Amino acid sequence: MSTVVTRFAPSPTGRLHLGHAYSALHARRLAEDAGGRFLLRIEDIDAARCRPEFEAGIVEDLTWLGLEWEEPVWRQSERMAVYAEALGRLEARGLLYPCFCTRKDIEREIADAGHAPHRPDGPVYPGTCRHLGAAERTARIEAGAPYAERLRMDRAMATAGSLCFTDRDAGRVAVDGTPFGDVVLARKDVPASYHLAVVVDDAAQGVTLVSRGEDLLPATHVHRLLQALMGLPEPGYAHHRLLADAAGRRYAKRDRGLTIVALRNAGHSPAEVRRMAGMG
Ligand code: GLU
Repeated sequence: MSTVVTRFAPSPTGRLHLGHAYSALHARRLAEDAGGRFLLRIEDIDAARCRPEFEAGIVEDLTWLGLEWEEPVWRQSERMAVYAEALGRLEARGLLYPCFCTRKDIEREIADAGHAPHRPDGPVYPGTCRHLGAAERTARIEAGAPYAERLRMDRAMATAGSLCFTDRDAGRVAVDGTPFGDVVLARKDVPASYHLAVVVDDAAQGVTLVSRGEDLLPATHVHRLLQALMGLPEPGYAHHRLLADAAGRRYAKRDRGLTIVALRNAGHSPAEVRRMAGMG
């Protein structure tokens, strides 16, 4: 049996709240129960939204909660060259295409088509730039037009063949990337995307059990597909419920009063906050 390796991978875009505490403690417990290892990874590819003081806050809050993790802590903003290399390999296999569309272009195209299939993180890309000719692409790139790199979902699925992933609660799930359409693997402003970076890093860090909120379960279809295309090992998954308040609302960054730091400043002890997070 290989060692269980779990991780907590927050984005430093605000202070951690009770939902994060639950997620971190849950991942840590899964490692502990199996005599395994627990990692912390800072997912900060979005320079416009991530701030160093929030990263410091994450470390401070998790330490205060009594969590320990293996050093060094990886920071995704320092791994752009690795993502570029992974992207290059997918590109070389004809699995990507450049997309010059702005958000407005996409909205207009969808409105013209009269229908808008949605996936959890927004409308499905209508495929506009998939049909551009090679000459047009080159001309636009040479003219300096900003572009994202999208995965050709149909080709990616055909190349990978039939796939499954295993989630502790959901069991064996057949992978279907189609509802996601041609997802972005490199953004216009950042030469990577969440999907690419998370898959590359979980493999590079030897994560064997990806523990995270169930809101990310749909994205696992894309992640499993990317793992197969890049020849990376298949981790197990433990998507957990999202913590909700007494009224049944999920915790979110806007709930300032329920950040770990606010609870701590209000005089609660780490043990009390762990209990509030359902992990006492
Ligand atoms: N960085 C993501 C977030 O903060 C979580 C990524 C993951 O666990 O896969 O929502």
